[in-house]
Amino acid sequence: MPPPIPLYLNDVVQLRKPHACGGDTWQIVRLGADIGLQCATCGRRILLPRATLERRIKRFVSRGSAGELE
Ligand SMILES: [Zn+2]
Repeated sequence: MPPPIPLYLNDVVQLRKPHACGGDTWQIVRLGADIGLQCATCGRRILLPRATLERRIKRFVSRGSAGELE
C-alpha cells in the first residue's frame, strides 16, 4: 500500500482518465471522506472517495494551501 497522498484545498491535479468533456485537470474544492473536485475545463463538480482519487491522480499541476497547514 502506498502512503496516503496529502491533499489540500485548491490543489490542481491531473487525473489518468479524462472527464467526459475531454479535460483531465481538476481543482480540489472540498476535503473530507469524499473529495470534491471541480473540472477545470467545464466547471462541473464531482465527489470521489479519497482512495479512488488517490489511485487516479497522475500528477499535481500546482499545490494549494499546503504551506498554510504545515
Ligand atoms: Zn469536464
